[in-house]
Amino acid sequence: MPEPLRLTGISASAGYAEGPLFNLEPVAARYASKATAAEEKAALEAAIGVAAGRLAGLMEIADGEAAGILEFQVAMLEDDALTGPAFVAITAGQPADAAWRQALDAEIAGYETSDQDYFRARAADMRDIRDQVLRALTEDGGAAAPAGAIFYGEDIAPTRFLETDWSCGGGIALKAGSAASHVAMLARSRGVPMVVGLGASPAHLTGIALLDAEHGGIVLSPSKAEIDAFRQSSSSFTARRDRARTYLDKPAVTKAGTAVRVQVNIADPSDVDGIDISTCDGVGLMRTEFLFGKTLPDEETQYRAYRKVLEWAGEKPVTIRTVDAGGDKPVPGFTVEEGNPFLGLRGIRLSLARSEVFRAQIRALLRAAVHGNLKVMFPMIAVVDEYQRAAALFAEEQAGLSARGVACKMPPLGIMVEVPSVAIAPEAFSGVAFFSIGSNDLTQYVMAAARDNAAVAHLNSVRHPAVLRLIASVAAFGQAKRIPVSLCGDAGGDPASIPALIEAGLRDLSVVPAQLAMAKAAIADVAV
Ligand code: PEP
Ligand code: MG
Repeated sequence: MPEPLRLTGISASAGYAEGPLFNLEPVAARYASKATAAEEKAALEAAIGVAAGRLAGLMEIADGEAAGILEFQVAMLEDDALTGPAFVAITAGQPADAAWRQALDAEIAGYETSDQDYFRARAADMRDIRDQVLRALTEDGGAAAPAGAIFYGEDIAPTRFLETDWSCGGGIALKAGSAASHVAMLARSRGVPMVVGLGASPAHLTGIALLDAEHGGIVLSPSKAEIDAFRQSSSSFTARRDRARTYLDKPAVTKAGTAVRVQVNIADPSDVDGIDISTCDGVGLMRTEFLFGKTLPDEETQYRAYRKVLEWAGEKPVTIRTVDAGGDKPVPGFTVEEGNPFLGLRGIRLSLARSEVFRAQIRALLRAAVHGNLKVMFPMIAVVDEYQRAAALFAEEQAGLSARGVACKMPPLGIMVEVPSVAIAPEAFSGVAFFSIGSNDLTQYVMAAARDNAAVAHLNSVRHPAVLRLIASVAAFGQAKRIPVSLCGDAGGDPASIPALIEAGLRDLSVVPAQLAMAKAAIADVAV
């Protein structure tokens, strides 16, 4: 009996899976070279066509988020800037497979070496595109995984995820990977357990594995005692999740009867399609970086997106955050290259520096405000002058729209409390309409531990007394000054952090939709 092998990583999607390990191998089949460059070109064109066709087929059965990822891949395959260098290399005498691999590897290297997590996470999408075409060229369908398998490898392609039938269980264990990748987003929304950052393994792994994606680890060749303990944790997790579902339709209250508002965090307007508005108290955070993802959206595109969410929410509040580009959320053509992007020109700093972009967003928000209960907040506020300048731009744009006879309305303007200067000295902000604590950034800045760096994940804890003390003092300040305070960082949806947040005085949390039921169930267990 081999010794148990335990690897530790980071949970990217909570849950448990027990099953055979399936190694995700790179494409290995051999390509048969053609006689002429023209034939090589034709072979590559045909393979790109086959790959695009497969993606289009998957798109027909994909929903919002998955369809978006596939659309991006099809667009890349149709982009001459990506495929052109491969055709040039073929003209220079390379066979189609080598030309394609070389062209894509050069592109992938750019993503992989980026110092920004967002771009590194997109490298998986590019590798997927490369391998789709290589498979079509070599007619390698890829080995089939057994039902309920745990996929193990460097990274997993989004298409592999979408083609897999997860109804029989299974999970994902990655040596590298990222909790910010598209696959991680899909895994969270479909409840597929996933762990990333396991690092290189000391041996070639095979056999039955136990994947604990609640705490972030995997065990191979487990002992009998380990299997028993794992199954117990797994059923307790399932029981908690099932029990949580019963809380979804009810308002959230603690054991002592304290009411807690629970709102949702969204990014794309299509996120609301899968949410029943009666199960939440509104939208506590709509991130608008997604709209700014590939190109800068015009005023009309933004107006339509905001209006859709406001109409869906009816009378319930929708808090839209002005664009927080930069840091872990770069926007090509908008953000600037910087040595330390988390401490640089991000959020409100960039919006104020590029006021023509900011003004278009402001006009879209002022116009959308007439369609519901809109609140607007500014990200990364560090000093009151930033808030005042942003509020002045709102007033100017409102005057401009009104003068032109365009229907618009001034929404309440609030701020994110996520820079320690504001949490420590909030007095200057007594005039703002509301505070929303961004615990993701507040924690990383207080603990000096980047939110996207696995090596310092143990330091990045919202439950450290320094962070909790700041949160409690902001909640107390809000209560004294009658400024509503909510929290919209990931901690709000984390059952392990919820008791401490409520004890710190918070009564308003905003969570990812997938955590809504779990958050309400955790609130019901809090004593205060
Ligand atoms: C936060 O910092 O907690 C937050 C909600 O904002 P983001 O994660 O988008 O930076
Ligand atoms: Mg933030």
